[in-house]
Amino acid sequence: MKLHEYQSKQLFADHGVPIPRGRMALNAQEAKSIAEELSGRVVIKSQVLVGGRGKAGGIRLVNSPEEAEEVATQLLSMRIKGLPVRRLLVDEAAEIQTEIYLGVTNDRTMRCPVMIASSEGGVEIEEVARTQPEKIVRVWIDPLLGIRSYQARFLASSIELQRKHWREFNKIAQGLYHTFMNSDATLAEINPLVITGDGRLLALDGKMVLDDNALFRHIELAEMRDIDAEEPAEREARKYGLSYVKLDGDIGCMVNGAGLAMATMDVIKLYDGAPANFLDIGGGAGAEKVAAALSIILKDPSVKAVLFNIFGGITRCDEVARGVLSALKECDTDVPMIVRLVGTNEEEGRQLLAEADMVTATSLADAAQKAVALAKENSSR
Ligand code: GDP
Ligand code: MN
Repeated sequence: MKLHEYQSKQLFADHGVPIPRGRMALNAQEAKSIAEELSGRVVIKSQVLVGGRGKAGGIRLVNSPEEAEEVATQLLSMRIKGLPVRRLLVDEAAEIQTEIYLGVTNDRTMRCPVMIASSEGGVEIEEVARTQPEKIVRVWIDPLLGIRSYQARFLASSIELQRKHWREFNKIAQGLYHTFMNSDATLAEINPLVITGDGRLLALDGKMVLDDNALFRHIELAEMRDIDAEEPAEREARKYGLSYVKLDGDIGCMVNGAGLAMATMDVIKLYDGAPANFLDIGGGAGAEKVAAALSIILKDPSVKAVLFNIFGGITRCDEVARGVLSALKECDTDVPMIVRLVGTNEEEGRQLLAEADMVTATSLADAAQKAVALAKENSSR
């Protein structure tokens, strides 16, 4: 579960991280009155659960409450990367001297949290990793010890932060780490952490991703979920207990098992295709779940072909086939479909699907190649 910027920053502030004064607004009138309270220059920030809002025009600086109202109206009618803007954050504007990146996540290989810092803040860290990997520094944190101040100092000196800011930087690193741990987060990120014109450190942007599996022990955090702001398909998928993540490609994937889903995506890539989603229907999925999954995939207009890769262990291939057939009955589509079914009851499954005019494949490589070819053909017609 992702938190909005204003929610993340509030959690940071609860742990001693300095943030700008400001509040969330649901309409232009509220934005105006918050701007009046803050007086002076304010920044109006679209609260949507994607990054890169600045570049998309979702972050605006204004000079008066009247202008705040006007800009708020504009922002509230916008969509950013397909998501409607329903909430705004109105913050006191900061004068930025330097933008830093600071984040905590789990390092699965090292089996512990890692804190990441970079002098190149304000841009996406993935971009920095690609273009200037030497500008990224990491320290690995022993969860029994927490982040030690020498580690924070190491980060501060590595990003060439002036010595006078080290004490404050240490406090922020501690606060960010504790926010991460106390909320069972998988990501807690400040980007940018800025040095202001008058020499203060301030968390200007905040992002948090919480571990859904731990939400049961954080009722107050679970209540922060903004269902309306989530990708509609992901919301729908959650209702049926499917793990679904939308991606940029054009081949819809329906797979049982997370590992198999990853492998399927890899093989699609290997043959120069691009997956439109990650979808794990889980073990033992019945016809109803399969039907829900297929309709979610087909609602995505960028899907030009669908690849089913089902390994029948607990899941029975004939059950899956029945699900596919019942889903097809409901949604009228001409998107080509390729099926690879192996395992329990595969014969019955294949027979059922052959009647539905679907392309079948025996190996994953074969299936992926056929999917890539059919997607290409479909998008050029
Ligand atoms: P993101 O684009 O979704 O990551 O949103 P951010 O909150 O990080 O804002 C993007 C950029 O807008 C920042 O890197 C800053 O350069 C700029 N920005 C945000 N808030 C302020 C502010 O208070 N003052 C100034 N001058 N710039 C700001
Ligand atoms: Mn940012």
